[in-house]
Amino acid sequence: MTQQVPLLINGELVQSKSENWIPVTNPATQEVIAQVPCATADEVEQAIDAAKAAFEDWKDTPVGERARLMLRYQAILKERQDDIARLISQEVGKTFEDAKGDVWRGIEVVEHACNIASLSMGETVENVARKIDCYSITQPLGVCVGITPFNFPAMIPLWMFPMAIACGNTFVLKPSEQDPLTPMLLAELFKEAGAPDGLLQVVHGAKDVVDQLLVHKDTPAISFVGSVNVGEHIYRTGTDKMKRVQAFAGAKNHMVVMPDASKNQVVNSIAGASVGAAGQRCMAISVAVFVGEARQWIPEVRDALAKVRPGAWDDPEAGYGPLINPQARERVLNFIQEGKDAGAECILDGSECVVDGFPDGNWVGPTMFRGVTRDMSIYQEEIFGPVLIALEVDTLEEAIELINENPYGNGTSMFTSSGAAARKYQHEIKVGQVGINVPVPVPLPMFSFTGWRKSFYGDQHAYGKQAVKFYTETKTVTARWFEDDIDTGVNTTIQLK
Ligand code: NAD
Repeated sequence: MTQQVPLLINGELVQSKSENWIPVTNPATQEVIAQVPCATADEVEQAIDAAKAAFEDWKDTPVGERARLMLRYQAILKERQDDIARLISQEVGKTFEDAKGDVWRGIEVVEHACNIASLSMGETVENVARKIDCYSITQPLGVCVGITPFNFPAMIPLWMFPMAIACGNTFVLKPSEQDPLTPMLLAELFKEAGAPDGLLQVVHGAKDVVDQLLVHKDTPAISFVGSVNVGEHIYRTGTDKMKRVQAFAGAKNHMVVMPDASKNQVVNSIAGASVGAAGQRCMAISVAVFVGEARQWIPEVRDALAKVRPGAWDDPEAGYGPLINPQARERVLNFIQEGKDAGAECILDGSECVVDGFPDGNWVGPTMFRGVTRDMSIYQEEIFGPVLIALEVDTLEEAIELINENPYGNGTSMFTSSGAAARKYQHEIKVGQVGINVPVPVPLPMFSFTGWRKSFYGDQHAYGKQAVKFYTETKTVTARWFEDDIDTGVNTTIQLK
């Protein structure tokens, strides 16, 4: 019988009583590898209750103990990195090396969470008035919720629960119903690292489960990563309930290519960053903006892309794997058709792609368009597939204006050998992550992963110092200790003396 994915509630793996189950498939073969439940309302309630009960003790657990849990977890994740990556390859289709990267970027956030003592230090000023000191402390919020997308089933859950829990909160994770096996393994390994029962629960399901978590009176903070429409719904609903919400959403990432850039670096970087992970990365480069003479490199970029071929996870020659499901493939193929119908020139067409031995996989080959205008749907919308658009402009100013007008502002990069051009770009561009001669500038966890405009709703971002701000309240204490009992009279003014 196909494996039924359990829930994790109060440290126990629980078989859901749901009547509503969703198949989890291998996107290279369509083989059903598991069934995941849409948790019942009672089960979601139990998960929140367990997290709430566990919070009572965990919030007072010494910071060193919280950090040591993260140290043990980091060691276990490193030891099991290959096992986790194999699972990712099975349920998402990523190549094994790329899947290992997914795990590694999550492990780095756990390493960051090990520094929780220094990260959560407050501030102190002695003598804000005579013999009066002022200091701030950070305290956890309670039960935090994480809702995660399919495309990074290790990294994105690990952006969330380790930082939240290290801050003294407890957590309910609702992973993507398309690849729940990886987050379940992460949760089991967290238990193996010695996490007390109730610190982390995992509930599965889709909209109903998310909405229950979102409006529940005992979930003060919601972290979401996913598509823009769902992100807007999460942000609006959560903030309407007066909650703290961070919602990371969709993207349309541009790379600007200046004519003074190193050509080989440009060609290889665009090819890797546009079709890696089948273009299913929120930081994938989906638009290359060639400035001036740099447009003469377009045919070489096309040729480099044409050499990348998709394949099965364990094929060492494969550049990327299949799309997550047949609907995602259909959606990408529709965009390719829309681009052709709108008059764009398809200079590399991957819509007929086949992979030997995998006739049922959700394959799309590398695809590239030029002659695209800004009003075309292939430029306006996030395609989330291995499709690159080449735009041509005459000046850097035009490139900046174009990118700043795009509704999304997740990531961007520019390739140049001019420090002055790079400095101008970094300063004027309205995008969260900026790479200078770096194609996919995902920040390491000592910084925060951000996002502007439609790519992010909220104010405090993921990991870095901002995660501590997101997952804690600040309390500011003003304190005076009397050495003697002098009668200073009644003070009716606002001043501290
Ligand atoms: P998705 O929005 O379909 O799903 C994300 C999560 O929301 C899942 O857990 C899903 O079950 C839940 N969900 C789906 N529909 C819902 C609804 N109507 N109401 C409530 N919850 C709902 O996203 P996806 O397809 O899993 O992931 C791909 C998207 O995520 C892309 O748009 C990509 O750009 C984005 N993404 C953004 C970032 C970022 O940091 N900005 C990172 C990774 C992925």
